[in-house]
Amino acid sequence: MTKAVTSSVEEAITEAGGDPKTFTEAAHVTETKLPDADVTADVVVIGSGASGFMSAITAAKAGSKVVVLEKAGNLAAVNGVKVSGPFAVNTPVLRERGTTLTVNEVSQHVMNYTHWEPNSALIRNYLEHSSEAVENLLEIGYQFKEANFRFKTPFVDEKGGFHLILTDVDKRVRLWTEAYEKYGCSLIRQPKKF
Ligand SMILES: Cc1cc2nc3c(=O)[nH]c(=O)nc-3n(C[C@H](O)[C@H](O)[C@H](O)COP(=O)(O)OP(=O)(O)OC[C@H]3O[C@@H](n4cnc5c(N)ncnc54)[C@H](O)[C@@H]3O)c2cc1C
Repeated sequence: MTKAVTSSVEEAITEAGGDPKTFTEAAHVTETKLPDADVTADVVVIGSGASGFMSAITAAKAGSKVVVLEKAGNLAAVNGVKVSGPFAVNTPVLRERGTTLTVNEVSQHVMNYTHWEPNSALIRNYLEHSSEAVENLLEIGYQFKEANFRFKTPFVDEKGGFHLILTDVDKRVRLWTEAYEKYGCSLIRQPKKF
């Protein structure tokens, strides 16, 4: 599907007298070759999305040799790269703005809102560690602004919690690629068919 769309856009640009490379290069459409030799790793992460990327760089920072397998032909296609921003508690971004949000407040709200159906320990664990994701992204070069989210929650104004990403998607792809290189993770993308 992605290839069909890419080809159609390339054809349209050519017909209009333009250079299709300006589109494919901007969209990071690249061919990938699978490695010829066997690859060994301490940790293999399947899927370079939001959770896969965080898992990979966290494991690599802790000293593991990490291989990431991603079925998308390029990182620009993955959901985790394209989000507006994460919700997180007790981050440097919130502290800078002076917000007073606490894990207890969010945990109570989430559990009450969902009639205590989710696993409350898991929700709490997620909230207690949510800052680490924002800190990792800050470290690799993301920029954030604390902003009110479009859904109505009690966490607006002096509370906050939503981290709007100011870095554009093209740059995010570059930052993820550089982070994989910096921490020594091997990213193996699916070249053609899956
Ligand atoms: C348009 C959009 C906007 C969003 N905005 C926000 C937002 O602002 N804030 C927010 O918190 N959340 C947002 N979300 C939700 C967020 O993107 C997801 O919750 C998050 O990406 C989930 O992370 P994940 O790692 O589970 O999955 P993904 O990020 O989707 O990653 C999964 C990866 O696994 C790969 N994959 C799948 N199967 C295989 C396989 N068999 N082998 C190898 N690779 C495989 C996929 O190609 C993909 O790259 C948004 C989602 C969308 C679609």
